[in-house]
Amino acid sequence: MTIQFHGAVRTVTGSMHVITIGERKVLLDCGLFQGRRKEAEEKNRNLPFNPREIAAMILSHAHIDHSGNIPSLVKQGFEGNIFATFATRDLCSIMLLDSAHIQEKDAEYVNKRHRKKGLMPVEPLYTKEDVVDALQHFVGHSYNRWFFVTNGVKAKFVEAGHILGSAQVILEAEEAGLHNRIVFTGDLGRPKLPILRDPAHVKEADYLIIESTYGGRYHDPIDQANQKLAEVINRTAQRGGKIIVPAFSVGRTQELVYSLHQLRKEGRIPALPVYVDSPLSTNVTEIFRVHSDLFDRETYELFLREHEDPFGFGMLEYIRDVERSKALNDKREPCIIISASGMCEAGRILHHLKNNIGDPRNTILIVGYMAHNTLGRKLVEKWEKVRIFGEEYVRKAEVVVLNTFSAHADRNDLLEYVDHFDRQRMKGIFCVHGDEDQTYALVEGIKSLGFDHVVAPERGDTFDLA
Ligand SMILES: [Zn+2]
Ligand SMILES: [Zn+2]
Repeated sequence: MTIQFHGAVRTVTGSMHVITIGERKVLLDCGLFQGRRKEAEEKNRNLPFNPREIAAMILSHAHIDHSGNIPSLVKQGFEGNIFATFATRDLCSIMLLDSAHIQEKDAEYVNKRHRKKGLMPVEPLYTKEDVVDALQHFVGHSYNRWFFVTNGVKAKFVEAGHILGSAQVILEAEEAGLHNRIVFTGDLGRPKLPILRDPAHVKEADYLIIESTYGGRYHDPIDQANQKLAEVINRTAQRGGKIIVPAFSVGRTQELVYSLHQLRKEGRIPALPVYVDSPLSTNVTEIFRVHSDLFDRETYELFLREHEDPFGFGMLEYIRDVERSKALNDKREPCIIISASGMCEAGRILHHLKNNIGDPRNTILIVGYMAHNTLGRKLVEKWEKVRIFGEEYVRKAEVVVLNTFSAHADRNDLLEYVDHFDRQRMKGIFCVHGDEDQTYALVEGIKSLGFDHVVAPERGDTFDLA
C-alpha cells in the first residue's frame, strides 16, 4: 500500500494524491494548479498518472484547487465513480461550468494573438461539454455514512467546516492482511464560522494527510468579525460613502450576507441597500438554500426556526442582469456592493472599483486572501495609484482589511485538531496544501505535540503505508 503526492504540496493549489492498494488506485481530489500561466498550464494539461488506471476518485470539496481538473481526468479516459457529498456535487455543477467558461475565453484570447503571429491555435483545457460529461461520474453521499469505494476500500465523509459540503475523508483500506485507516482533512475550516458546522474531530488514524495553509499564522478571533464589520459600515455610511467588497462567490459572499442580515436584525447597522452583484454568487447562494440541512445550530436558531431566509432580507438584492449592474454606478446614496472576482482580477468588481476608488467617502473592504501580483493585493498594500482596465486611478477611498472571515483553520486550530489523535496508533502524518514556510511550521508544531514521522512531502514523492 502506498501514497503518492502529485499536487498542493509545498504550495496551495492543484490538490491531488493517489493511494495505491495492491492493483487498485484511488485518487483524492483532482484540483487545478493556479499561478504562473505557463507552469500551471503545463501541469494542468499533463496528468501525472494514467486516468484509466484510477479505480475511483474521492473529492473533499468544491473549490477549484481541489475539483478543477476533474473534467480533464474524465476527458482523458477515467471511467470510475467520483464520490462527493451532495452539496459538493451541486456546487461543482456550477463552478466547473464557470471554470470551463474561463478556459474557453482564455483559449479564444490566446488564439486571437496566435492568429496574428501565424501560430497554431490552442484548445481550451476543457469545455462546457467536457464538464457535462464529468458530472455524470459523480456519486453523492451524506456525511457519516460508510460507502464502498473499490475492492478492499471503504470510506466516509465527516464535516470539515470549510465551505458548504466540505468533508474530511476517512478511508479504511485492506490488502493482504494489512489494514490502514487513512484520514485526509481536505481543507479544514475554523470552529464558529457562520452558517457551517464546526470541523469534526477524528481520534483514530494510522495515517493523516493534513492541510497547512495557515500552519504558522494566527487569525483574529472570529467573535470580532461582526463587530469590526459593523464599525466599517457605520463609519462609511456616516460620511455618505459606499462600501465595495470584492468577495469570492462560494462561501465568503454567503457569510457576509449572513453577517449583514444578523447585524441588521440586531439594529447594529443602518438600513442600507445591499447588492450582491455577481451571477455566479447568486447561483451559488441558491445551492446554499437547498442544503439547509447542513447549517449549524446557530443558523437554525437565528433564522430557520422562524422560516426566515438567512440569505435574503428587505434591502438585499441579487443581481444577474448586466444593465441592472451598470445602474448601480448612478446610485448616489450609501450602499454595500458585494461583487466578484475575489482577487479583483476580472468580473464586475472592476467596474465598481473604477467608479468608486477615487472618492474619499467610500470604503473598499477586503475580506479574503489576495495572491501576489493581483489588483486585490495592491489594494491590501494600500497603493496610492492602481491600474484598472489599463488606466491609472488615484486611490482616495479608505481600504479596510478584515481577516476574521477566513475559512481556513489557523495554527491553533490545526494543532488542536491533531492533538485529538491517538499517538500510539498514528504511523505517519503528511503536511500538504501550504506554502513551504507554513507547511514546515506545522510539521514542527505537530512534532512538538509528541507525534513521530511528520513530513512535508514534495511533488512526486511516494511513501509506503506499512
Ligand atoms: Zn478550499
Ligand atoms: Zn484548498
